[in-house]
Amino acid sequence: MIHYTCDRCQRKIETESLRYSVEMKMQAEFDQIDIESQDEDRQLEQMQEILAGLSDTDSEELVDAVFHRLQFDLCNICYHEFKSNPLGVPKVRFSQN
Ligand SMILES: [Zn+2]
Repeated sequence: MIHYTCDRCQRKIETESLRYSVEMKMQAEFDQIDIESQDEDRQLEQMQEILAGLSDTDSEELVDAVFHRLQFDLCNICYHEFKSNPLGVPKVRFSQN
């Protein structure tokens, strides 16, 4: 039997309790490339310039720099906490209006 551990609090997730799977996809966006006004060669060139600007990384690191996918298993408690603050922003009291 497979036992899961919560990736956030490291508690063992009992097989009979709920387990939440969280998937994150992070992708670099190149908004400064004006797709409308440029031909594809120029776009590609510009993309390469941007990628080259990401310092001397090898291709694997380069892929990691522009695209990253993570998958977590969360227990019930952590899931709800994560859901309420996915970016881990320090809690600020918002005025309710
Ligand atoms: Zn947890």
